[in-house]
Amino acid sequence: ILLSKAKFTISAPDIRRLPADSGIEVAFAGRSNAGKSSALNTLTKQKSLARTSKTPGRTQLINVFEIAENKRLVDLPGYGFAKVPLEMKKKWQKALGEYLQKRESLKGLVVLMDIRHPLKDLDMDLIQWAADSDLPVLALLTKADKLSQGKRSAEVLKVKKVLAPLNADIKVQAFSSLKRTGADQAEALICNWFAQ
Ligand code: GDP
Repeated sequence: ILLSKAKFTISAPDIRRLPADSGIEVAFAGRSNAGKSSALNTLTKQKSLARTSKTPGRTQLINVFEIAENKRLVDLPGYGFAKVPLEMKKKWQKALGEYLQKRESLKGLVVLMDIRHPLKDLDMDLIQWAADSDLPVLALLTKADKLSQGKRSAEVLKVKKVLAPLNADIKVQAFSSLKRTGADQAEALICNWFAQ
């Protein structure tokens, strides 16, 4: 499996519009601006696969990328965006919640968090939910290039420590789209989920 084979398949406003729920999906979730689109582009080695625009309208859809037959990467709506009306927020959160709860083919969840301020309430809710659902998680601590090597390692340790009591399959990896830090490690973990 090569993530670079990713091809845009569809943007869906809700789960009814998604491809048939069979095979394996690995979903990407995170607060708006966490670096999710950049990470998807870095991992697939495609400059503009996911849109790195901050226009809220573009991030409200569930974007699907097929990497092989019945194997898909799924870009979920960003959460926690401050500057949009409540009604709009509710709509996206609904799409996100429905996807997470109902999607049978979901076999791994990548949670993207800015390494400078990880584990916000909504991040914790999501990770806790995944742990309770026995869904493996890769916590990608993005924009690692913004911290010194020392602070980066300290932050990774801190996140591991907070998540350890959940007793779940959670990997933590520092990541930078700018420098490709952690990209090979992240790709290996994700490909492992696809190989199950
Ligand atoms: P999304 O809303 O989660 O999809 O986030 P984006 O991928 O659009 O990134 C949000 C902002 O963070 C943009 O201004 C990016 O240029 C910046 N960004 C994303 N990844 C990195 C990174 O690895 N390093 C740095 N320094 N900036 C990044």
